[in-house]
Amino acid sequence: MSALIRLEHVDQYYEKGKENEVHAMKDVNLEIEEGDHAAFFGPSGCGKTTMLYAISGIDRVTSGKVLVKGHDITALSNQELAIFRQTGIGIIFQQFNLVPSLTVRENIALPMAFVGLTKEKADQEAQKLVVRLGLEDYATHYPTELSGGQQQRVGIARALANNPPIIIADEPLGNLDSVNAKNALQILRDLNEKDGRTIIMVTHEAWSLQDVKTIFNMKDGVITSVEHRKPNDAGFVNKMGGTDDLKEKLAKEAESKESLTMMVRILSNFFMRGHTLQEMSRFEELLTQRFSRTIDQLQLQKMLGTSFVLGGAGLWKKKAERVSAYVETLIEKQKDLDATIDLVNENPELPIAEEVAQLRKWMLGEYVGEVSPYKVEILDELIGSRIRHYMTAPEFLRVLSMPAKNFGAGFPLHSAQKMAERLEIVIEGSHEEYHPAH
Ligand code: ADP
Ligand code: MG
Repeated sequence: MSALIRLEHVDQYYEKGKENEVHAMKDVNLEIEEGDHAAFFGPSGCGKTTMLYAISGIDRVTSGKVLVKGHDITALSNQELAIFRQTGIGIIFQQFNLVPSLTVRENIALPMAFVGLTKEKADQEAQKLVVRLGLEDYATHYPTELSGGQQQRVGIARALANNPPIIIADEPLGNLDSVNAKNALQILRDLNEKDGRTIIMVTHEAWSLQDVKTIFNMKDGVITSVEHRKPNDAGFVNKMGGTDDLKEKLAKEAESKESLTMMVRILSNFFMRGHTLQEMSRFEELLTQRFSRTIDQLQLQKMLGTSFVLGGAGLWKKKAERVSAYVETLIEKQKDLDATIDLVNENPELPIAEEVAQLRKWMLGEYVGEVSPYKVEILDELIGSRIRHYMTAPEFLRVLSMPAKNFGAGFPLHSAQKMAERLEIVIEGSHEEYHPAH
């Protein structure tokens, strides 16, 4: 069977021949099968949007072939291309791209008018999508009256107008909070698993790849690798129709999945303060894998301590060790969500406090002067702030050497400098681990 979408030696340039020329797709060859849930994954600027525009015929490529069901869309006239875009592909944009002067239902009906449906028929069809996306109460509202999550659902409904077999989504979760993002992911997944539509999305956030079957990793206009994943079991059962027993099982699964997500989120807020959002999502993803037994303890520990660019959570080794040990105790005791919340509430500062105490000992090193309890307290606070990057190295040194009456730690400047240097070695060391390529 030939692929639904096939790219052959596709190159795309912007401003070709000019000084500011960009080679945004470099000899791209790929295939996407019918029914796939595929994603292009890579950092900002690597060419993901360019890729979607090439596949959907929004932009013409500089050279190469873009075959959809065996037809080369680069050979189509502008008018033929327009028809292909309106009926063959539904596009969900990151910025929603809704028309502000049209109501929700009119926005959804817009692409239908284009293919010649009467207004009445278009309204009817649009209303069906309104219901499907749970927008009944907003059908006659204007986009500005809706929340971001609701606007995105309108965007999805509009992409479904004319019933396209292929849905393309450009960073569909980019402007959504985590709850709405999860809902949008679920809708995409249903469209794929229940409706059998081919979904192609673009993202730079690893956590949004959870339901994806094929991942095209991208960098600098090149597909660097392709990963194929097994569709998960719950989805498979879903597709098979599902008896009541199965439905119940699925509902239970969904529930425990939900509480797993919550648990992982709590742990991430607990352990990952001061880290970037990307590192936090990577952390959550890794913990989810561990809790669902996809990876073992050693793999978790290793990945937590691996740099972000290499797929890890970017923790320094000691912390990775401690977090993974902590996760094991949760698994061992089969802690449920409530127990985890209790545990975290009982010792809100514990993980960081231990870490800080160790750093303090290291930092004080050969310091022979007296360290009063007050100094210990303020040192710990300072170290905590420094390792979370709440303060810079010079700020840290300044407060370390400021007199106690000014709320400093009151160390003589010379000793403070030595201590700060020792601490920076550790922090810098962890930085090297973050960016081994540099
Ligand atoms: P992504 O979606 O992965 O962030 P894009 O496909 O938007 O990346 O961009 C890929 C490269 O092409 C970037 O270097 C970007 O600056 C450049 N680019 C994108 N669109 C244009 C354009 N219309 N004109 C010139 N350069 C562009
Ligand atoms: Mg983009």
